[in-house]
Amino acid sequence: MKITIDGQKYEAQYGEYILDVARRNNIFIPTLCHLEALPGQGNCRLCIVEVLEGKRRRVVVSCSYPVKGEIEVLTNSERIRKMRKNIVRLLAAAAPDSDFMKELQKEYGLQGEERFQVTRGEDCILCGLCVRACEELGIYAISTVNRGITKKVSTPFTEPSEVCIGCGACAYVCPTGSIKVKEEGGKREIWGKTFALLPCPSCGKYFITREELEYVQAKTGLAPEKILCEKCRQEQAGRKMGDVFKDIAMK
Ligand code: SF4
Repeated sequence: MKITIDGQKYEAQYGEYILDVARRNNIFIPTLCHLEALPGQGNCRLCIVEVLEGKRRRVVVSCSYPVKGEIEVLTNSERIRKMRKNIVRLLAAAAPDSDFMKELQKEYGLQGEERFQVTRGEDCILCGLCVRACEELGIYAISTVNRGITKKVSTPFTEPSEVCIGCGACAYVCPTGSIKVKEEGGKREIWGKTFALLPCPSCGKYFITREELEYVQAKTGLAPEKILCEKCRQEQAGRKMGDVFKDIAMK
């Protein structure tokens, strides 16, 4: 089916999210909590757009709004720009030290503005990506707790989690750098828990916690000596591709 985005017609599949149709066609809609690997969060609300459906006109979150008919979408109408600006204000109040938020404030002409008070600090905007990443791993070490202004992401009872494997996936996906990971002297500290790091069997650089190694082994069936750091993995993959090209060239 065809949908209209900012006056142009584009092909869309039934059930496809508006954001995906827009991205496929290089139409920019800002996002904060959207990752291709973890789609449809809809928490930061930066990706709001206006949808005209028959006589109805409403604002929806484009990353989780499925196309079900021939709609018209406005990604940057005056109404949307105004609303998005306020969303940036609120998010920036929650994460005032985040470089990412500072960039967004600059983009929306909000530098130096102190319209909202800092609500939580710690640079968490409660987008939920960290919780989702941990859930996708099947670990469930963190969740959102409390309500209202005390709502936050935490381990159970803010104690070091028994099930956390110290993989750092939660910190990796965090758009504001709110989750702190400290790594030194062969140790990694995250969520109040300290993990001993193991060296890469190829280059000897510390890179993985014992708990994460066991997790990867259980999931992949790989022997520990085959589990390499990212750099060595990439080098090995590059070497393999090089061999394939060499073989082709020899033929
Ligand atoms: S470091 Fe712990 S909390 Fe974070 S994703 Fe890994 S297991 Fe979950």
